[in-house]
Amino acid sequence: MANSGQKVVLITGCSSGIGLRIAVTLAKDEKSRYHVIATMRDLKKKDKLVEAAGDAYGKTLMLLPLDVCSDESVRQCINNVKDRHIDILINNAGVGLLGPVESISIEEMKRVFETNFFGVVRMIKEVMPDMKKRRSGHIIVMSSVMGLQGVVFNDVYTASKFAMEGFCESMAVQLMKFNIRLSMIEPGPVHTEFETKMMEDVAKMEYPGADADTVRYFKDVYLPSSTDIFEAMGQTPDDIAKCTKKVIE
Ligand code: NDP
Repeated sequence: MANSGQKVVLITGCSSGIGLRIAVTLAKDEKSRYHVIATMRDLKKKDKLVEAAGDAYGKTLMLLPLDVCSDESVRQCINNVKDRHIDILINNAGVGLLGPVESISIEEMKRVFETNFFGVVRMIKEVMPDMKKRRSGHIIVMSSVMGLQGVVFNDVYTASKFAMEGFCESMAVQLMKFNIRLSMIEPGPVHTEFETKMMEDVAKMEYPGADADTVRYFKDVYLPSSTDIFEAMGQTPDDIAKCTKKVIE
């Protein structure tokens, strides 16, 4: 349980990548300012997080199951937090999707929106009443540079992040009146399983209906240059965790 003076931070998608590092960084804060509730949809994946958290596990870091695509799971998770009191919500869970629209089913597209857009909306709706009552809180949303600019064959992922940006910009103004902050983090490339999965998807990718020049641009210009950008400028999950910590301090 959180000590008085500690801020309760709930983070989504902590089984890997950025979410895992944010959870560990905050749980190991030098002044123990945070009580971290690290959530993941499948607790069988907890070992990497528990190992990285070390002594902090069970002290400043606890685990709860949470699938951001399920209304019931979101409600249950927040009900399991003492007094439903969350000071800082970090919406990190997200999925990618790459390929020409003709090769992607509407069901797959809905899964991306269910996670990246409605997942965030569900979480905000659930924590907002308590934050409004207390007139205090901070909501962080992990967007992307692709929430600001479209990228070839990333149409659906980009659209889901744009949708979230629009939602959050509108919400921020209303929440400000209740002294609740809403911040968006927009990382460029970060070395995580997200990147690995994307490169696997590229290897299997087919291009039905796509124009030959676009495919050539994607394969010969976009992919090699994004690989170069990753190598030269790619950030680590730790970089994003440190940046997130600065945003909430
Ligand atoms: P990872 O694939 O390593 O992590 C994604 C996390 O989201 C996993 O823990 C995954 O859990 C979780 N997740 C997926 N679906 C759900 C769900 N329905 N409910 C709860 N958790 C879920 O990728 P990153 O760490 O890179 O991505 C984190 C965030 O950062 C995402 O929002 C992504 O869009 C964003 N981002 C990433 C960039 C990058 O280059 N890596 C760049 C810009 C933004 P599980 O293990 O169960 O699948």
